[in-house]
Amino acid sequence: MTSGFLWHERYMWHSTGIAAGQLPAGGFVEPDNHIESVPSKRRFRNLIEVSGLIDHLVPLKPRLATEDELLRFHTPDYIRRVKQMSDAGFGDGGEHAPIGPDSYDIARLSAGGCIVGLDAVVEGRVRNAYVLNRPPGHHAEADRGRGFCLFGNVAIAVLHGLAECGLGRVATFDWDVHHGNGTQKAFYDRSDVLTVSVHQDTYYPQESGSLEERGVGAGQGYNINVPLPAGSGHGAYLEMVKRVVAPAFRAYRPDLIVVPSGFDANGMDPLGRQMCTSDTYREMTLLLMELAEELCGGRLLMCHEGGYSPVYVPWCGLATLEALSGQRTAAEDPYLPGFLATLAGQEVQPWQLSVIDAAASYVADIE
Ligand SMILES: [Zn+2]
Repeated sequence: MTSGFLWHERYMWHSTGIAAGQLPAGGFVEPDNHIESVPSKRRFRNLIEVSGLIDHLVPLKPRLATEDELLRFHTPDYIRRVKQMSDAGFGDGGEHAPIGPDSYDIARLSAGGCIVGLDAVVEGRVRNAYVLNRPPGHHAEADRGRGFCLFGNVAIAVLHGLAECGLGRVATFDWDVHHGNGTQKAFYDRSDVLTVSVHQDTYYPQESGSLEERGVGAGQGYNINVPLPAGSGHGAYLEMVKRVVAPAFRAYRPDLIVVPSGFDANGMDPLGRQMCTSDTYREMTLLLMELAEELCGGRLLMCHEGGYSPVYVPWCGLATLEALSGQRTAAEDPYLPGFLATLAGQEVQPWQLSVIDAAASYVADIE
């Protein structure tokens, strides 16, 4: 089993500027750091190295996505505006989508990293791959950045895969705590991409992510949202994969599975209000690998999205990559015993199951 791992130091040079948490500073809000910052990603990468796991991974190098590749999803005007603001050294791509010096090229490198990861998996150079890219992408829409995202990395990579790599059907499963609105919109009227998103109910974006959003036209039935109530944990997430994702993917029979992978549903995230642990991500990854083996020759690509706890994202990332690569290092998650794993309510609750079962009822419509 070979797993690719893509990282580039330049991803860490995207500046989100001065802010306070996820909001701009000013007025009575004292300037602090922006929450979409470097440490969670750099510490994730550092733990992959210090644990020794990196010695078992195939290094992948990103390239810049071309303008034509961006244009598969974004409008020319939006791409031009991002470049102008990047050249000026500051700006906002739309809604909470900060732009700093060189952000245009770094965001192209982020989308291009996902393309490289997809190529490596589809061409069989690696069995699966994790792309630790930045800025994230799943909130970006065709004509605006949103939620710290500038370009729709996964949407752009999947559109590349459909256009250039002979893929007929792709299934995505977004486990970020926020709704994958951008990826949903990219494929909302198409049946060649099945988009599934699990997220915290009515969080961000506030207006999207409901059970009722199921696609339009040819895409009717090919979008499934699972808006789990705040407080959902390990049991709810695994039940959701078993009752919704697995049967949906089996019905759909994709050529490739792609995971927009935010680790902000973990129990230590400053933005998310869910309780997942590193074991949750490890076990979800193992279930997805089983599905990929059964359906598409093991082809599984993960691209990084959110995750804002510098302390805990590295443990979620390590568990995911250990599962993907079939390796276990000596690094044991110290936050599991006596804390995250034993929080009351980690088992699936009836009010969580009712949402999961409602989403599961949609699987019958997939052909
Ligand atoms: Zn998120």
